[in-house]
Amino acid sequence: MPLELQPLNLPGIEPKRPIVIAGPCSAETEEQVLTTAKDLAERDVKIFRAGIWKPRTKPGGFEGIGETGLEWMKEVQKETGMLVATEVATHAHVEAALKAGVDILWVGARTTTNPFAMQEIADSLKGVDVPVLVKNPVNPDLELWIGALERINGAGIKRLGVVHRGFSTYEKKLYRNLPMWHIPIELHRRFPTLPIFGDPSHIGGRRDLIAPLCQQAMDLGFDGLIIESHCKPDSAWSDAKQQVTPDVLEFILNRLVIRDTTV
Ligand code: PEP
Ligand code: MN
Repeated sequence: MPLELQPLNLPGIEPKRPIVIAGPCSAETEEQVLTTAKDLAERDVKIFRAGIWKPRTKPGGFEGIGETGLEWMKEVQKETGMLVATEVATHAHVEAALKAGVDILWVGARTTTNPFAMQEIADSLKGVDVPVLVKNPVNPDLELWIGALERINGAGIKRLGVVHRGFSTYEKKLYRNLPMWHIPIELHRRFPTLPIFGDPSHIGGRRDLIAPLCQQAMDLGFDGLIIESHCKPDSAWSDAKQQVTPDVLEFILNRLVIRDTTV
């Protein structure tokens, strides 16, 4: 099924590569959210990410701060002028995020695997005009990814994008999630106007891989990057090993070589 797409058209954001979304894996405290956001805004990052509801592999860990965190996201908008983005996985999440004025929604890799969950999210978005980014499913199934996009698009969401966050593997070697670049490349071949963001944080799973993975995404012509950044990465409540300080993020972004990849 063809997708009916429109440019993401993010207010105040030039459609210049890379479009950068950065912020912590999880919103933890008001102070952590606001400190990180201000440090990023000072470094010219214009879109802030933070997970409010966290899909953890096993129970018993930190599963997100919940709706309280949405109030902190509103403060980020007010105090920094940044756009804010968060993950939604259920009807209740969509409703709460939209009510709080979250600017961009994303669907996480575990949710993209589940057509019922995708349909529930799509149904919650009927009649709403909000940009939605769909991460690849954890398993390397391009059709499942496209099916998720079709469901969201079928609900009338035309400002649609995707996030390549790598694919789960039993054998953990260099990467936390294998990039399998041929999959996003094939997705781009089929939908050339669909914006693609690279997520070096969840592919690499470690700080030292962020820079090379950002460069690889840029060399492949990706439109944007979503990168986890935390004011105190080592004490992060989730994904501590892969988060970088706003300072390090700026260092990495300043050294990216952006080539024109159009042929
Ligand atoms: C996240 O972005 O923090 C996250 C949970 O990512 P993923 O869905 O890619 O695992
Ligand atoms: Mn994370």
